[in-house]
Amino acid sequence: MGDPRRRVPATDDVLGAAPVAAAASRLGRDLVKRAVHDAQRRARAGEIEPEQVLAATLEALPESASGIRPVLNATGVVLHTNLGRAPLSQAAIDAVREAAGTTNVELDLTTGARGKRGESALAALLEAVPGAEAAHVVNNGAAALALAATALARDREIVLARGELVEIGDGFRIPELLTSTGARLREVGATNRVHRADYLDAVGPETGFVLKVHPSNFVISGFTSSVPVAELSGLDVPLVVDIGSGLLRPHPALPGEPDAATTLAAGADLVIASGDKLLGGPQAGIVLGRAELVRRLARHPLARALRVGKLTLAALEATLRGPDTPVENALRRDRASLLGRAEKIAAALNEAGVDAHVQHSSATVGGGGAPGVELASAAVRLPRLFAERLRAGHPPVLARLERGHCLLDLAALDPEHDEVLVRAVREAAL
Ligand SMILES: *Cc1c(COP(=O)(O)O)cnc(C)c1O
Repeated sequence: MGDPRRRVPATDDVLGAAPVAAAASRLGRDLVKRAVHDAQRRARAGEIEPEQVLAATLEALPESASGIRPVLNATGVVLHTNLGRAPLSQAAIDAVREAAGTTNVELDLTTGARGKRGESALAALLEAVPGAEAAHVVNNGAAALALAATALARDREIVLARGELVEIGDGFRIPELLTSTGARLREVGATNRVHRADYLDAVGPETGFVLKVHPSNFVISGFTSSVPVAELSGLDVPLVVDIGSGLLRPHPALPGEPDAATTLAAGADLVIASGDKLLGGPQAGIVLGRAELVRRLARHPLARALRVGKLTLAALEATLRGPDTPVENALRRDRASLLGRAEKIAAALNEAGVDAHVQHSSATVGGGGAPGVELASAAVRLPRLFAERLRAGHPPVLARLERGHCLLDLAALDPEHDEVLVRAVREAAL
């Protein structure tokens, strides 16, 4: 046999093998070559046999050239920011695929002249919210706020209640975002209470606009009061309302959650929202409202730095015009059907020797929407050690830890993924 290191196959030989060559055309030659080199190194170090280099190379190759991989969301948090918030509908996924090539995103096909960027997505927004005179889309909700502050209140004041100075996540705070644009904050009221008179006292020649921010990730209860949108309109300064979650119309399951149509009807001049929360679409910042104000935002130089790409526009339009989104489907699930799914999953796991039980669970909307709302859900309960193993699996499954158990909450999971889930748990049990 001689020195096994001499039997390690040459790089070109491994790269020439049909499955490796196919992977190289899919993933790029550099990435595949690195996997080959790594397998060769392991063979030389005696960690694997030289004959295993090909198999080890293939095993180490990722499924796509991107490090972002699909995972199963069994956390019971429908809009999980760390898991990319809203999963797109199939219609939106198809639209993104179509838009990924060369497109007419900024070309009028009837005249051949330059067209308005994303016109059909904006039209879809205005059809969904007829009370809005105009619409504009930027990169995310924070970008929309920054653009409004810059275009309408730079070197001037934004009047905002103290109870609405929200930290949105990862240490980012709306008040700091606003002042970073050169606007000044004029805080009114106390943490728990603010009155219309507080706003009236603060509004003056320095005011750029009055801002209301929906406390989308916390609730304060007790001795509280805030001023409804209707009581703040007609103050001679624009009223901008950050509703957060992007509901366009009232939602029967989320009575406390503000929506764009109702907020505009109540007198808001501009409404700002995210695209990837309850709207169930791509990451985007949506601005709806009075044409003159929307135009000031859209024509501001900063707008060019915040604009969205064709993939976002395509996904947003398909979300608005297409069938119900996965987020909407998750909100509609009732406990009885979730329990039925959980029982099937637990039975399949018990059959495979896994200690799995069904239990009631309480899911949440998450992602800065409908705080305090509990969604009646069902879960499959596993021993705690499964949580880590499932996260390391293919595909990774994200579970919830509760009272020392690993819970697979089904609220945010599409039923078509139940079989994949069963397979993942079986593999994790080995
Ligand atoms: C989520 C949220 C934001 C930030 O929106 P992004 O799209 O995450 O940038 C701003 N305001 C409120 C009230 C929110 O809930």
